[in-house]
Amino acid sequence: MKYIFVTGGVVSSLGKGLTAASLGTLLENRGLKVALQKFDPYLNVDPGTMSPFQHGEVYVLDDGAETDLDLGHYERFTSTKLTRLNTTTSGQVYQTVLNNEREGKYLGKTVQVIPHVTDEIKRRIHVLAEHSKADVIITEIGGTTGDIEGLPFLEAIREFALEAGVGNTCFIHVTYVPFIKAAGELKTKPTQQSVAKLREIGITPHIIVCRCEKPLDKELRQKISLFCNVPVEAVIEEKDVDHSIYEVPLMLQRERTDDLVCQLLRLDTPLPNMSHWQEIIRKLIAPQHRVRVGVVGKYIGLQDAYKSVYEAIIHGGVGNDCGVEIVQVDSEEIEKEGAERILQGLGGILVPGGFGERGIEGKIKAAKFARENKVPYLGLCLGMQIATIEFARNVLKLEKAHSTEFDPDTPHPVIALLDAQKKVTKKGGTMRLGAQPCQLVVGSQAGKLYGSFVVNERHRHRYEFNNHYREKFEKAGFVFSGTSPDGKLVEVIELADHPFFIASQFHPEFLSKPHQPHPLFKGFIAAAHQQIHKKPL
Ligand code: GLN
Repeated sequence: MKYIFVTGGVVSSLGKGLTAASLGTLLENRGLKVALQKFDPYLNVDPGTMSPFQHGEVYVLDDGAETDLDLGHYERFTSTKLTRLNTTTSGQVYQTVLNNEREGKYLGKTVQVIPHVTDEIKRRIHVLAEHSKADVIITEIGGTTGDIEGLPFLEAIREFALEAGVGNTCFIHVTYVPFIKAAGELKTKPTQQSVAKLREIGITPHIIVCRCEKPLDKELRQKISLFCNVPVEAVIEEKDVDHSIYEVPLMLQRERTDDLVCQLLRLDTPLPNMSHWQEIIRKLIAPQHRVRVGVVGKYIGLQDAYKSVYEAIIHGGVGNDCGVEIVQVDSEEIEKEGAERILQGLGGILVPGGFGERGIEGKIKAAKFARENKVPYLGLCLGMQIATIEFARNVLKLEKAHSTEFDPDTPHPVIALLDAQKKVTKKGGTMRLGAQPCQLVVGSQAGKLYGSFVVNERHRHRYEFNNHYREKFEKAGFVFSGTSPDGKLVEVIELADHPFFIASQFHPEFLSKPHQPHPLFKGFIAAAHQQIHKKPL
């Protein structure tokens, strides 16, 4: 078993997760089985309770783990299926250690960061190694070197490397090489200092990945090599991508990063064949077709809040050789200006998941606009609930119909809590979470797109369609095209008399990859293109 540790220096948001995921792509394409793992130094037990404003989207795994969005990159870039074993926060580590202490497992010893917390961190690497049966584990340490919170993780991986022996671990440090305009040059000092900080802790990186906006010339590489104590070929340029994050694996390949890693870890593998990946990039850079779709949300302007949704839309485009321009629409703007003005001319409208009342009426207006004007609509989770409320109010004439999440006293609770959820008061891990089977109706639009009749999709919500209203809806042309296998929970709805109006209670965006676009997104983009160009792709 081989281990790669990815740390970050200088600033956050360097794209360490992307670097780790991209290396995973390359190693997988060399025939290795790869597992990726994220350590997050914050004290939250998981990001499930964190605001998207602060932390971006919550990415959900098959087993229902609510995780950091970097895990989304891991799944999109590789074929690994992640579970809660692939994600650890300081909160989880401390929770385990404190529980052990309460259970008397430390036999009266003083419980300390070293060795108890660090042992727990190391145990989590070993557990993943054992379960994943991977050839290589890539562990990304969240945060920035020098943060107090990150120290136990860095100490743990230092010890881990010592125990694993020479040739079995590789440390990669992702750092920032800023371009200083006034001087007209890239500066290496922050990199030198962050590497010095790591070395103080006892970690000497083998590879330095330099995030930069301009190319790293030979001289700079030599300077970093000298000051950071790595061979010059281990100084890797990772320039800002021109078009797409999916270029990163190819960039790392050009710099021979995977070669170097394999040499360091004594892995004898063939060169990766990345031709399929190059084809994806071709479709992203020079697509044959183009279309614009709108995403109507409330966290608009925050790139990370709808990360997987945006990615899945792009994948849907790749699946159709169609470049997609995503127009981010603030639902409150629709409330102020009306749907017509803002949504006119878009090929399709997508309403993603969400919580809380703000902007809800704008989303309902967007769904109405899509239904009435026969504009392709894709609703995800809240987006399905919105479509239901809109249909109830405007087609079934159920006045003030709503979800009890937003109006507990609505006379028509078309979306409501399941009994099991009514008793829940704790936050975190208490929603309907993770992959669950959904049975699709033969001949439905969704059934045709999936091409299969039982699918597994990931959930993260509390509220559900209220079955009391099912018949009324059905009679008016609202199709329940997917349900839980026992038929009790509504999973997918669509409109009979509409070219593409599909919404799901689950989150299909979590299962889409550039090389395997999700069928609902692929269908949505094809429909959006047809809407504008009036001919099929
Ligand atoms: N707020 C809604 C619910 O809890 C929708 C959740 C979501 O879109 N993820 O049911």
